[in-house]
Amino acid sequence: MCPGVNCINLPQESILLKTSGQIPSHVGISGNELADNLAMSATINLNSPVPVNDVKKNISNLSSTQNGKAQWDHKDTIKRIIDCWPSLPTRELDTILTRLRIGHTRFTHRHLLLGEPAPLCTACQCQMTVLHILIECQQFNHRRIRCFHSSCITLKDILHNDPHPQLFTFLKMIGFYSFV
Ligand SMILES: [Zn+2]
Repeated sequence: MCPGVNCINLPQESILLKTSGQIPSHVGISGNELADNLAMSATINLNSPVPVNDVKKNISNLSSTQNGKAQWDHKDTIKRIIDCWPSLPTRELDTILTRLRIGHTRFTHRHLLLGEPAPLCTACQCQMTVLHILIECQQFNHRRIRCFHSSCITLKDILHNDPHPQLFTFLKMIGFYSFV
């Protein structure tokens, strides 16, 4: 806890990352590779409160620097090629789909609010982005083939007006669903 300061409690789903370094390996267990990867990438306890002043300070920094704007305006977004955004009947799924379409998820962008280094893919040693997780990361190729019948897909293929029917299954299989 943070005695004497205002804090924000982060989502409970992040509890998977709570004991980073003590999580047993999930290698070979379906759907847990990303969870392991996320756990290894995490440098802080995502389940702990975040002081409001820390968040305010980093939001201010983001809005006042070109680097911050560049990070926030990520190029790996599909929103520019979608004219209208039909909503899904379930609010939870609709929220996840929207976050994926704009390329902003809690996991890939939380570091900007906290002034932390960007999370890295431990398999590829590159920055974790929605594009990397959904399309580029080679470690999920066999899951892509199972869900989308191809390992060569684009954001447009799976996030367009009618999202791919296996999109949410894929997110759950790779362990990303609860981190979006
Ligand atoms: Zn990767």
